[in-house]
Amino acid sequence: MYRGGIIKKSAEQLEEMAVAGTIQARCLRMLRSKVRPGVTTRELDEAAERFIASQGAEPTFLGYHGFPGSICASPNSMVVHGIPGDYVLRRGDLLSIDVGVTKDGWVADAAITAGVGEIDGVARRLLETTEAALNAGAAQARPGNHLGDISHAVQERTERDGFSIIRTLVGHGVGREMHEDPQVPNFGQAGRGPKLEPGMVLAIEPMVNVGGPEVRMGPDGWAVYSSDGSLAAHFEFTVAVTAEGPRILTPWHLDP
Ligand code: MG
Repeated sequence: MYRGGIIKKSAEQLEEMAVAGTIQARCLRMLRSKVRPGVTTRELDEAAERFIASQGAEPTFLGYHGFPGSICASPNSMVVHGIPGDYVLRRGDLLSIDVGVTKDGWVADAAITAGVGEIDGVARRLLETTEAALNAGAAQARPGNHLGDISHAVQERTERDGFSIIRTLVGHGVGREMHEDPQVPNFGQAGRGPKLEPGMVLAIEPMVNVGGPEVRMGPDGWAVYSSDGSLAAHFEFTVAVTAEGPRILTPWHLDP
């Protein structure tokens, strides 16, 4: 799955990745606006496929190791890799939406978790913590830091609020391929691991359970669930390390 070695991108290549990232972010914002009770995850998948095609881009996930959707749609205790389908969103659900966009051969990968209608206090805190953990990690993506600074920041921010970081699922380098070196764990020690250099591009993606950190594979061989059935959340950016600091290439958090 990994090519071996961290592939740094030139300034020009980062601009090309930013084009893919902007499409990706607009797709995620569009999907978030459609999340409401009564909508099926298949409808979201179809909307994503139409939008990505309208931008002259391709859905990276479709066909990846045989994955049948353009998005991963993972409700409630499902952490990641949910196949979109007949599931009907209900008030109070959490839905994690992960989308990959390939534009001119460059991949952008990012994810959000959204509440469906009104959600309870624990769910709201889980979303706030997981997004804050992503931001804490992304803030460390600067030259001179080490990969472990990202991992440590994500873990520390998550555990401060009493939630559990999943350890068996990790972020990754991204570029021409969706999964490049290095793996980006969501736990670890500051100051450890490869030194970060301008041109490295990382998909940072904390996956957090309300309960314990263990996960299990579902019967379809794709969906991953929290083992204890507790709620899970997933937020992800594609982030470039630049001399000026972290550059979020998938700015779904910004207004269009
Ligand atoms: Mg990813």
